[in-house]
Amino acid sequence: MIYDISPPLTPRLAVWPGDVPLSHRVMCDGDPVAASALRTTVHLGSHVDAPCHVGRGAATIDQCPLDWYLGPCQVMRVNVARGQCVVPELLGPIETPRVLIATDSYPDPENFNEDYAALSPALIAFLKGHGVKLVGIDTPSVDVFAAKDLPTHHACLEHDIVILEGLVLRDVPAGLYELIALPLKLVGFDGSPVRAVLRTLA
Ligand SMILES: [Zn+2]
Repeated sequence: MIYDISPPLTPRLAVWPGDVPLSHRVMCDGDPVAASALRTTVHLGSHVDAPCHVGRGAATIDQCPLDWYLGPCQVMRVNVARGQCVVPELLGPIETPRVLIATDSYPDPENFNEDYAALSPALIAFLKGHGVKLVGIDTPSVDVFAAKDLPTHHACLEHDIVILEGLVLRDVPAGLYELIALPLKLVGFDGSPVRAVLRTLA
């Protein structure tokens, strides 16, 4: 069974305030072919951040090894208040190198709520200590909205943990899965939208 954990990409999908929302331009309307063009931020819906998103000179998305985004993964559901950070004490045992954290604090991808929950920098250090190399979240950012200096993004950079944001985990039970969330090969870009899915284990 496959869980689709990506929101629908439409012009109504909320993007970070001030960022470029998706626009869909029909270049050819079906005679003789249908063909569209799109314009959007790469931080759209379910997306990965490249290390260079917050680290000047760090890896761009095309330079990131694909095996980071593919493989054993654990979904953990946490009980965290709106606007607060998930701390290590809220997590159970870590069993895989990829961890997706469901906060249920960003319920509608078409309405940006600034009080979503995020991850603490200490949580990132804790995950690193357990061999984690990818962390995902069901909110627009691993940092709280007010954190202009992005301490959790920087903790991920420091600990070589890649970031998957904007997931839809509402219907996914906690447990072990295979994650597939491959970025596009966008040369020099600081992130990429992904079609993120979880496959149940046989
Ligand atoms: Zn980010």
